[in-house]
Amino acid sequence: MLEARSNLCWNSCLVANNQHQAHGSCRVRVKPRNQIKMEIGGLDSNGRQFKNADEMWREEVGDSQKKVDWYRNGVGYWQGVEASMDGVLGGYGHVNEPDIKASEAFLNNLLTDLFPNAGRNQHLVALDCGSGIGRVTKNLLIRYFNEVDLLEPVSHFLDAARENLAPENLLVSEEHKAANFYCTPLQEFTPDTGRYDVIWIQWCIGHLADDDFVSFFKRAKAGLKPGGFFVLKENLARSGFVLDNEDKSLTRSDMYFKELFTRCGLNIYKFKDQKGFPNELFPVRMYALTTDTWKRVGTSRPKRHANRPGLIK
Ligand code: SAH
Repeated sequence: MLEARSNLCWNSCLVANNQHQAHGSCRVRVKPRNQIKMEIGGLDSNGRQFKNADEMWREEVGDSQKKVDWYRNGVGYWQGVEASMDGVLGGYGHVNEPDIKASEAFLNNLLTDLFPNAGRNQHLVALDCGSGIGRVTKNLLIRYFNEVDLLEPVSHFLDAARENLAPENLLVSEEHKAANFYCTPLQEFTPDTGRYDVIWIQWCIGHLADDDFVSFFKRAKAGLKPGGFFVLKENLARSGFVLDNEDKSLTRSDMYFKELFTRCGLNIYKFKDQKGFPNELFPVRMYALTTDTWKRVGTSRPKRHANRPGLIK
């Protein structure tokens, strides 16, 4: 979820930690795992502090009933939200434009880098995860991919997406269509093997507990075509994490994400920070993630300034 951070007070320790974080460095490096774990203290939206993520997760999803409740409350929150641009963007409908613009530039760059002829003349297929009303598909993915599948657990959002993406409401040729609409949460979804060139995950992964995050990506890797990749676009906490008690989602730090990517066996191929959002919002980062079995299938040479794929260890 897109969230305002103005009501959060950061303690000086968290801010200080953040100042040591490298931003936009050309090679992704993280500290050894045990050190990372130690550093991940966090907050909830009421300002309560947790020693580490384990303490928070024990409380939130520590037994099977709590976990059921966590996901029920997460989806329950969205069931009470209007199926509109403002609804899925937490009242910030106007960030749609800069969001899509930055996503398009990032995607274009990746397709140019990674796919022969930037993907032109290929039948490209994408999956839009936690798609809401189909905002990302309608404004971006459908123009680049011949088929887009949507995955969304909230049925009135998915109904709106179906409507928004009906052929008569699209400005694309018949070669481009929304193909499948899955009313399922990420933690229960297994994609068809080798179906997708790109799996796009925006503003929804915070709803997944760490173990489900890791198992989702492990299953989803098998859903990628050779050379396919993930784009994860998410809010970033300055350090550690911030738990939203209302919608049951977690905003993770860059370091927290890197720890999870390692556990998933994913490499950061490139990342880019969103620009032009209001100051009161969390910063937003786009990660392009490739798998261990990933091989370059493109003929174009990588740009000199590009981040090189490399396992985060
Ligand atoms: N990605 C969309 C919607 C963002 S709003 C966009 O950028 O416009 C967050 C979305 O995450 C909502 O549609 C909500 O229903 C969905 N969501 C909540 N819990 C989820 C889960 N467990 N798995 C997948 N999606 C979930």
